[in-house]
Amino acid sequence: MTMETDVLIVGAGIGGLTLALALHAQGIPCLVIEGTAEFQSIGAGINLLPHAVEPLAGIGLYSALLQNANSTTFLQFYSRHGAHIYTAARGTKAGHSWPQLSIHRARLHELLVQEFKARLGETRLHMDAKCVGLEQRNDGVAVLVSNRAGETRTIAAGIVVGCDGIRSRVRQMLAPNEGEPLYSGVMMWRGIAEMPCFLDGSTMVLAGSLRSGKMVAYPISGVSPCRTQRVNWVAEIRTQHRSQASWDVAGQRQDLTWADRDWHLPWLDVAAMIRTTSTIMAYPMVDKDPLDAWSQGRITLLGDAAHPMYPFGSNGACQAILDGFTLAECLSCFGLTERALEEYQQARLPPTKAVTLLNRTIPPDVVLDEVDARTRGEPFDAINSVISQTELAEIMGRYQQISAGRIPKFSRRSSLAHAAG
Ligand SMILES: Cc1cc2nc3c(=O)[nH]c(=O)nc-3n(C[C@H](O)[C@H](O)[C@H](O)COP(=O)(O)OP(=O)(O)OC[C@H]3O[C@@H](n4cnc5c(N)ncnc54)[C@H](O)[C@@H]3O)c2cc1C
Repeated sequence: MTMETDVLIVGAGIGGLTLALALHAQGIPCLVIEGTAEFQSIGAGINLLPHAVEPLAGIGLYSALLQNANSTTFLQFYSRHGAHIYTAARGTKAGHSWPQLSIHRARLHELLVQEFKARLGETRLHMDAKCVGLEQRNDGVAVLVSNRAGETRTIAAGIVVGCDGIRSRVRQMLAPNEGEPLYSGVMMWRGIAEMPCFLDGSTMVLAGSLRSGKMVAYPISGVSPCRTQRVNWVAEIRTQHRSQASWDVAGQRQDLTWADRDWHLPWLDVAAMIRTTSTIMAYPMVDKDPLDAWSQGRITLLGDAAHPMYPFGSNGACQAILDGFTLAECLSCFGLTERALEEYQQARLPPTKAVTLLNRTIPPDVVLDEVDARTRGEPFDAINSVISQTELAEIMGRYQQISAGRIPKFSRRSSLAHAAG
């Protein structure tokens, strides 16, 4: 088989583009195919934790990220009645060398696309090229690609990485009997509003509970001269009425009547925030059972394709970024080999499986539901009479320890490392 590329990346989302940039930094050629014909500016805010900012900074993206994000200082939990529950420092405030960055997903994506085109060249990104089939051969993989007109072609690659998101076609081929994403019983609505600056202008707030309705709000921009900011919000509630798990489903304002009343957060007008949001998107909280393996021969998975998880603890994009740098490191050290994909799987499957399962049982947000259960949602005077700060710190600490991954460093192999074989 004549190889068209060393590494074929399926999907130009956050994970696929990060992998491409990380491979480029290691001198490994790649080609990216993206199913959509044009990128759309949909989605809302996401967070880059220090352990994801660090490797991106290592390939020279730090100042661009910083200019387009808000450096989060604190994570604060409140009851619906405005009672303070817990504060955790974030990023450099928590002693990390790198900040936590809150950023619009579309802006982050745009930055990665710009860098990709500047470094690898536009011709290495094929738009309107959907992976519809894969065939593993002795020396590589034949990937069947289709466009909107229904025309198909085959691309031969040494290694194929499925970075094609939660509805991954590549994963479907590796795990054909797996069903649809699993619904958690929680619906989410997202939006972005221009709001008066609240607290210190860089705090992420989580308030309420999943039983009666929860609100997450954090700024994704700096403060304007008239003291306003772009604030990303996510409203969440337990309900059996769910939307389709697709990133372009519009949210209905009438589904949010529970969310815009009875809030007593003195510094944030939740009703106004929802009312002034021009576009609301709906998305169910879904994940999939962790797989026992992601790498089969010369094919592997990365990001949401490998480990779709609930978006607690700001982990979706961060784990995809860690995957990307780890896989680039493995391919650089072990060559374009099945061994490299096994080493990658060994480094990344256990920690991402742990985060996926922890998000189902005790994510950091569980402190809100615990307080709600203990107080039956009634107002309280002092949080210490409900739950101790030590107990709260334990819940947060355990989660952060498990989710903060490290990119392994291997000793370098010979210069033949990049040869497909
Ligand atoms: C348009 C969009 C908006 C999003 N908005 C948010 C948000 O607001 N908040 C949030 O927490 N998360 C959002 N996400 C998900 C978030 O980006 C991921 O959870 C996380 O960043 C991990 O990234 P990923 O690269 O694994 O997957 P994704 O970022 O989902 O990227 C997957 C990419 O693969 C492409 N693709 C899919 N199937 C194929 C195929 N067969 N062939 C070729 N290409 C294919 C998709 O078009 C997409 O570009 C969004 C994802 C998308 C695609």
